[in-house]
Amino acid sequence: MNRLAVLGQPIAHSLSPAMHTAAFEALGLGEAWSYEAIELSPEGFAAGVEELRAGGFRGANVTVPHKRAALALADEASAAAAAIGAANTLSFTPTAIRADNTDAPGLIAALPRSPAGLPALVLGAGGASRAVVWALLEAGADVAVHNRTTARAEELVADLAAAALDPAGSLPLDDFDILVNATSVGLTRPGAPPRHSGEDLRALRIDPDGLSERMLVVDLVYGDEPTELAATALGRGATVVDGREILVRQGAASLRIWTGMEPPLDVMRRAI
Ligand code: NAP
Repeated sequence: MNRLAVLGQPIAHSLSPAMHTAAFEALGLGEAWSYEAIELSPEGFAAGVEELRAGGFRGANVTVPHKRAALALADEASAAAAAIGAANTLSFTPTAIRADNTDAPGLIAALPRSPAGLPALVLGAGGASRAVVWALLEAGADVAVHNRTTARAEELVADLAAAALDPAGSLPLDDFDILVNATSVGLTRPGAPPRHSGEDLRALRIDPDGLSERMLVVDLVYGDEPTELAATALGRGATVVDGREILVRQGAASLRIWTGMEPPLDVMRRAI
């Protein structure tokens, strides 16, 4: 059996086991490959990975809070993982651990058109934002970053050579064709009712009138219901890519690395 897992803390809520298990079954790999969720603390992460590898696991996805640690413990890393400073995919061979970052290609694959030459505004300066900013710059977009805590945005743009944006009032959405929410604003507990009170848009400094038909809006956050940003943008005629599609695309890129097979995207979408 080729065993895989997603490693995080907390991890019980993860949709990745259902998504990958459905993909393996659809590919006729259900008997040969398995995927489970394993909770590891930050202190126990490196030892936990070594234990999995010694126990015959083939690899793992890595999520919050271990993406930087995953890169640090790898013997080799893809250009994307090294530049972003974080890995979400580990592959184990008898002699080495390889780190990849599929959040970046996953984002680009989820977009309905190429972002090359387009002005893009990325909100947030955490781990997800680093992958998004790097991916958009690599794909040829013109990227500006805004974050609640300005110092974090400045550090990110200095590392990745994007532009910083620090407006006092609402964000100048007219200047951008692409808007990406890579903050955790909009995240709700499973089962919690959707929040469409305007609170999330205010936290993000987004004036709903700026969300127009010509915009592509990407929200990395997902829950049981569309986020306030996604729902408002859809209502205003914008093209919207939600966090579930990003999840599917990063998972598909990881599956391709491990198995070399073409992932069944629709099966994966249905599974989550
Ligand atoms: P993180 O490192 O904790 O960063 C959180 C970011 O959100 C920071 O920039 C933070 O700003 C900002 N933020 C938090 N609360 C805010 C508020 N009330 N108002 C304005 N900004 C606020 O998290 P992350 O790992 O980057 O992940 C960000 C989100 O992306 C999470 O919700 C995660 O679930 C989602 N995500 C989704 C996928 C997917 O596959 N769909 C993949 C990765 C991540 P400060 O710096 O000011 O604190």
